[in-house]
Amino acid sequence: MSDGETRRVVYGPVPSRRLGRSLGIGPIPFKTCDYSCVYCQLGRTTQMTVQRRDFFPPSEILKEIKHAVAGDAELDFLTFVGEGEPTLCRSIGWLIRKTKEITDIPIAVDTNGSLLHLPELREELSGAEVVMPSLDAGTAETFRRINRPHRALDFDTIVAGMEKFRQVYRGEIWMEVMLVKGLNDSESELEAIKRILERIEPDRTYLNVPIRPPAEAWVMPPDEEAIAMAHDILSASAAGINVVEITTGESGEFSTSGFTNPEEAILAIIRRHPMREEQIVETLRKQFRYRAPRGAVEMDREVEASMKRLERSGKVKRERYRDKTFWVIAAERRGKKE
Ligand code: SF4
Repeated sequence: MSDGETRRVVYGPVPSRRLGRSLGIGPIPFKTCDYSCVYCQLGRTTQMTVQRRDFFPPSEILKEIKHAVAGDAELDFLTFVGEGEPTLCRSIGWLIRKTKEITDIPIAVDTNGSLLHLPELREELSGAEVVMPSLDAGTAETFRRINRPHRALDFDTIVAGMEKFRQVYRGEIWMEVMLVKGLNDSESELEAIKRILERIEPDRTYLNVPIRPPAEAWVMPPDEEAIAMAHDILSASAAGINVVEITTGESGEFSTSGFTNPEEAILAIIRRHPMREEQIVETLRKQFRYRAPRGAVEMDREVEASMKRLERSGKVKRERYRDKTFWVIAAERRGKKE
């Protein structure tokens, strides 16, 4: 399953505020999704599909999971996530079941929730400890504007699927709401989101704002007052929506364990998760320090050379977003400024 990187499907661990040290399992190819969210940190969707299938051999994915789990004893979560919508993988249920046979590390599924209306998917996800669906809109119109779904998808059907999932699923549901300035941060839209959350009754609700370069350059987080209003409206729910936190930043270290070459590790991570430039430097430093002790000057030289090699490869590029420099995969990914 290699395309030049040591591992294709399993990556990280990456730091996650809510999941701790989370090993990512991305069972689908780059930007394969049934949404094309304006805020997507992977850029615009290039493979728009609602057809579930095995994009990679499931047995190969399982082999990678086994290998990664055996090599890292300090994982908090194994998370099906990645380069698009993981529930498009037809074997996700089989993979969850088989993974449970080899480890008791909790499993999370980070999904847009669009396919939870399928009874078989609701059954397949039953073995995961946590499912994290998205809900960014309270109305079909906003749903179309922010998530830009496949034409076969219907907002009411998706919401009904989430409700049905809640009724049968014994694990925790952590909803994620991405707030985008001018799209879903008005009082009426937030009230509409609240009404849907009251129907779904998630265990937790996380509010996010875009912190990495989005698919569309015009996407911005709401103003502070609008974020505070979102928190107040959702928290004031009579149904007790448990708004856990507002994620406006990130912290923690990226791991490159399991890779023989630190540059491959960087590529594997930013393919799914754009990194700030200082995170790239810190991650490379850690790798070189780990491989052999060396002085600060020598270390700086090696890190610089490594970054130059990455840039020259043409596989990465720098992007500025809200005064920060990020490294992203140099695929066709950015929308034009509108
Ligand atoms: S944010 Fe998630 S659901 Fe939206 S386009 Fe990107 S991968 Fe798909």
